[in-house]
Amino acid sequence: HEFMEALAKAREAHSLEHQEILILLQARGEEVDALGRAADAVRAKYLGDEVHLRGIIEFSNYCCRNCLYCGLRRDNRKLRRYRLTPGEILAAARKAAGLGLPTIVLQSGEDPHYTAPVLADIIRRLKEEVGVGAVTLSVGERSFEDYRLWREAGVDRYLLKHETAGATLFARLRPGTTLQDRLLRLKWLRELGYQVGSGNIVGLPGQTLETLAADILLMRELDVEMAGIGPFIPHPQTPLAKEPPGELELTLKVLAVSRLLLPRAHLPATTALGTIHPQGRRMGLCFGANVIMPDVTPPPYRYYYQIYPGKAGLHEEMETTLVSLKNLIFSLNRRVGSGPGHSPKIQGGM
Ligand code: SAM
Ligand code: SF4
Repeated sequence: HEFMEALAKAREAHSLEHQEILILLQARGEEVDALGRAADAVRAKYLGDEVHLRGIIEFSNYCCRNCLYCGLRRDNRKLRRYRLTPGEILAAARKAAGLGLPTIVLQSGEDPHYTAPVLADIIRRLKEEVGVGAVTLSVGERSFEDYRLWREAGVDRYLLKHETAGATLFARLRPGTTLQDRLLRLKWLRELGYQVGSGNIVGLPGQTLETLAADILLMRELDVEMAGIGPFIPHPQTPLAKEPPGELELTLKVLAVSRLLLPRAHLPATTALGTIHPQGRRMGLCFGANVIMPDVTPPPYRYYYQIYPGKAGLHEEMETTLVSLKNLIFSLNRRVGSGPGHSPKIQGGM
């Protein structure tokens, strides 16, 4: 009864109190299906049937941070490190464009080797020489000046997941950084006119349902244009190696509630979701997601971008991956998104 009331309110008002979010996150059995159906209906109503494909180029796995959950952390001495040259990045983007991927995400560890002007130059060339429709950057915490320079160079969106709204947990899992600093950067990105992407990791050791409810409320408060919601996957060469992975069902519930409360946000069916279950991406698309980010990092580099082990689609040819993703989209009676796939808020649409 409580569940149905909270669900009806979420579906109609797209607004819930902390307590009501908790009720939805505790859904079991048929309630989980009802939650998924509601999220799917909201997705269809506000964003239609298009699934946007964004090619992700993971251009460096060097990282000066030491996040406890991540395989790229600087203390992982077993990882073979690489950096793509500007030429290699442009070539990867050209290949992605040739395969029909109109937008690109540039992601890396926090690697000061790529100074702001160097990245700005790459971004300009991606837009002018390759004709990339929209560029998303995801290179972590940098200065206001750096973000300003990249925005001027033509970056459209920035992905900086808040990871967890639990400030103590955040500080423990990301030594030397604070939630407050991360949120300040999300505010800067907003001021600079980026489409802002945040998101969390579901199933982090020490996380509770309360923390997850706070994550969802935070994303709503930030009014994000995008949110990456994926399960925690333990990496053997990190301090969290022995911790259990995030659960599929809980991740889907967090995704669905996020869709209900952020009806216009772009929500990817994350690679991490596709990694913990072979049908993970399909289920994500049925629980409110409307974006997929296929990996277009050239081999052999992509094997070394080991955030977590067993990444979905790692050993497939890019062409094969795209065919199976398109088949997945068609099998759900959805369409592949065309054009840059900007946030409907930005387009001045709904
Ligand atoms: N360095 C940038 C940053 O941290 O924002 C971008 C790259 S980082 C590898 C991208 C995302 O990977 C992070 O936002 C985090 O949510 C995710 N991630 C890292 N380790 C993970 C793990 N073990 N399981 C699931 N997601 C993980
Ligand atoms: Fe570096 Fe990002 Fe991994 Fe943290 S999550 S270690 S900042 S790549």
